[in-house]
Parts: sequence; structure tokens; C-alpha cells
Amino acid sequence: MRFHTEVLHAGKKELEKYGATLPPVYQSSAFEQNSAEDLAGIFENKAPGYCYTRVSNPTVTAFEMRITKLEGGMASVACASGMAAITNAFMNIIQSGDEIVTSASLYGGTIDLFRDLEAFGIRTHFVENNNWEAFEKVINEHTKLIFAETIGNPGLDVTDIKGLAELAHAHGLPLIIDNTTATSYLIRPLELGADIVVNSSSKYINGNSSAISGILTDSGHFKWTREKYPILGEYLKYGPMAYISRMRATVFRNFGAVFPLKMHF
Ligand SMILES: *Cc1c(COP(=O)(O)O)cnc(C)c1O
Repeated sequence: MRFHTEVLHAGKKELEKYGATLPPVYQSSAFEQNSAEDLAGIFENKAPGYCYTRVSNPTVTAFEMRITKLEGGMASVACASGMAAITNAFMNIIQSGDEIVTSASLYGGTIDLFRDLEAFGIRTHFVENNNWEAFEKVINEHTKLIFAETIGNPGLDVTDIKGLAELAHAHGLPLIIDNTTATSYLIRPLELGADIVVNSSSKYINGNSSAISGILTDSGHFKWTREKYPILGEYLKYGPMAYISRMRATVFRNFGAVFPLKMHF
């Protein structure tokens, strides 16, 4: 399947138990299992399956699988909004005392979020986009991630993702790219070296201004280390799945900013 086919069909298998041609909507808050033990296993992320829609839901999984394909990643997590996706993407790997380095060409809501993070002891350095010297100058031992938008909203400047990914990796840091203004139809940041891509699916991905949601996609390529990312703790044993595993088991389900199923279908 190529891009235009995947837009319509990727992830469909997750839902096709009876051959339905229109994706079924699992509008159910809870899911039954054969035994309490089976349910406990799923609830504790030890077995695949569904237990409660704040944790996961088959219709949402199909959407995650589709965007994962379109962005060329390994796994995705769909959220309540673009801001929820960005918040999850950050909070999964940062702790009090950590720092973020970001391009200053950003969506206003994201700039506000960086201000909110100050209350949790997380400091952000804003630098001129594509100015490598400026990025280098503020990166230090507390830096945990680099952030930029593919096309800054509303400035419309284009980020050299390949250059920024090389700079980030030279410092052992992941690059998180907000791809909302371009979408994977125009550019795939993960192919250019970004490690995690976030999209507000309230915009082009929704396509008709009728609902709010967001999604983040992990390439699975970043090498997380215990020294630099102690917060990933026990999840490091999952290797390429460490980042998404921790998110699903902790911040995503506990912050509760989950995909608004009812709004979309
Ligand atoms: C709209 C937007 C967001 C936030 O998305 P919401 O779905 O409104 O929370 C984030 N980044 C960019 C570039 C946006 O345009």
C-alpha cells in the first residue's frame, strides 16, 4: 500500500472482525474479558487487549495504526488534543530540574505550555529557528529534548529537520517535531531523522473543523539511556518500545487526556 491507499486503509484490520467496510466505532467505556485474571493482565499492560477506553480502545488503536503508517513510525498514542499530545510527549521523559531547547517559531499554545512547565521546575530555552550556533549555546547537561515545528505556526518559517536532528543526536538528545502544519502528506519528519512526531489532528488531519484531537508517533530509533533518562526506569528493558511503553502505562492513562471518541464519530 502506498500513501493514498494507507490514508484510507491502514489500521483497518484492527477493527475488521466481520468484514465491515465502514470502520466500526467501539463506543464503550469498558470491555469484558473471560476472567478477572485476563482483565488484570490487560489492565497492568502485561497482555494485549482492551479493558477501559481511557487506557485504549479498538477504534482509537485503528487511528493510531493509520497515523503510524503515514508518518513511517513504530507506534502512536492518540490524545485529547494537539496540546495533550505535546504534553504527553514531553512529560514522559522530563523531570524537575530538566531543560528543553526549542525553536522560538512556535504555536502560541505551545509557548504557553512551556511557561506552565516552569511551575514544575522545567526550564525552556527559546532560540532562533535554524540557527545552529544559538542551539549549541544553550544545550547543557540538563537538556533532555529539542523541539521545533516543521513549518512554524503562524510564522511559516521552514525548519531544517535533518540539520536539527543531526545537532540533537550529536548531543545524545531526541528531536521532537510538531508536524501539524505540513502533515505526513507533505513531509515525514521521522524519515529526516526526527525521533518523535506530534500532530494536532484538529487541523488538516480532521479536515473539516469539527473536532479536537492530537496524536504522537515514535520512530523507535532513539537510544534512551538510564544515565540520561532515569525516568524511563523499568521501561528501558523494552528497548525501542521503552518510550511508548512508559507513556501508555503512566502519564498517558493517568493524566487522562484521551482521544475523544464521541466527538469524532
Ligand atoms: C493547533 C496546533 C496545536 C495544538 O493543537 P490542539 O488540537 O488545538 O490542541 C499545536 N501545534 C500546532 C502547530 C497547531 O497548529
